[in-house]
Amino acid sequence: MNKNAIYPGSFDPISNGHIDIINRALNIFDNLVIAVLNNSEKKSWFSVEERVNMIKELYGNNKKIQIKSFDGLLVDFMEKENLKIAIRGLRAVSDYEYELQLALFNSQLSKGKFETIFLPASRENLYLSSTVIKEIAINNGQLEEYVDKTILNKIREKAKIKRGE
Ligand code: ADP
Repeated sequence: MNKNAIYPGSFDPISNGHIDIINRALNIFDNLVIAVLNNSEKKSWFSVEERVNMIKELYGNNKKIQIKSFDGLLVDFMEKENLKIAIRGLRAVSDYEYELQLALFNSQLSKGKFETIFLPASRENLYLSSTVIKEIAINNGQLEEYVDKTILNKIREKAKIKRGE
């Protein structure tokens, strides 16, 4: 039986922390759906299309990965896509409460059908977030350590727009 999982998130933009979780998830699962959340509540730098395209630049040729976007509840999307396992990354303690809450809600909403699996962040990514990346970018800082080189320019370009240049 093929083991499939979904890795949902904002990916605004995709960071080396996300990439680490994706690569490690692929050691466990045969196929992974990376699902970009179109969240109207959360103000994002990049449109869903831009976020999806950045991930496609990285993984578009990988047969084990599908890149999709969704809005609404994760459980509804998982039902539609016939997926039962969601992967989430856990960084410092600050992630724990929010992630636990999400996992419990998703389990409850799916009546126990869906499971969440947590992968701990690697040490070097423990304090890395998309928010930090945007903060560095807007202040013209060095991004090379935190994001893949294929998307560096996209982030720099967006930062220019945000600075009004
Ligand atoms: P953020 O909280 O940075 O906006 P996302 O919503 O894109 O992140 O995150 C999707 C998932 O990836 C979440 O489970 C989040 O905890 C995880 N994640 C984000 N950054 C990292 C990281 N540096 N290392 C491991 N997991 C991470």
